[in-house]
Amino acid sequence: MSQTPSLAQSILTGLAGRCPRCRAGHLFSGFLSVRKQCEACGLDYSFADAGDGPAIFVILIAGFIVVGAALIVEVVYQPPFWVHAALWGPLILLVTLAPLRLLKGLLIVLQYHHKAAEGRLERKSER
Ligand SMILES: [Zn+2]
Repeated sequence: MSQTPSLAQSILTGLAGRCPRCRAGHLFSGFLSVRKQCEACGLDYSFADAGDGPAIFVILIAGFIVVGAALIVEVVYQPPFWVHAALWGPLILLVTLAPLRLLKGLLIVLQYHHKAAEGRLERKSER
């Protein structure tokens, strides 16, 4: 796999939770735990640091969906509060947990694709 994948290929690789270099190995060992390295090509995943990125996207997307739906239901139907609790509890779990792994894989693969890393100070002796 010497050819650099396109951005679209990298996005699909990230959503599938696959290795950003070989696209064959798995990125995750658990639900959100990143493996130490790729089992297929040996790529060291120590560079992978999505940080709070996936959570921020999930918060924004889920908040828009759940709050929007709750407002619409309240304005249109004005149900009792127990209906809100019964509706939005499961919806919150669905719209927060389901996309979290997808977004984490996507951000890690995009980090690899764009060679993004923390800024480092360069010393004159290292040039
Ligand atoms: Zn790999």
